[in-house]
Amino acid sequence: MTDERRSPSGGWREVYSEMAVSTDHEPDSLLCPTCGDDCPRLRTATYWCRTHGAWRVAAC
Ligand SMILES: [Zn+2]
Repeated sequence: MTDERRSPSGGWREVYSEMAVSTDHEPDSLLCPTCGDDCPRLRTATYWCRTHGAWRVAAC
């Protein structure tokens, strides 16, 4: 009846798009500034350390 069924969850697409864009600005992972462990990127400037949790890169 409507086209709403074609896009059941548009929210994740916005998040995915944001992440895709952020890859152009930040690397996929960085070393934790505290323990030096490899931290995958969560968001534009936010990384995840399994020991220290989420941490952010200081903006220039
Ligand atoms: Zn750490």
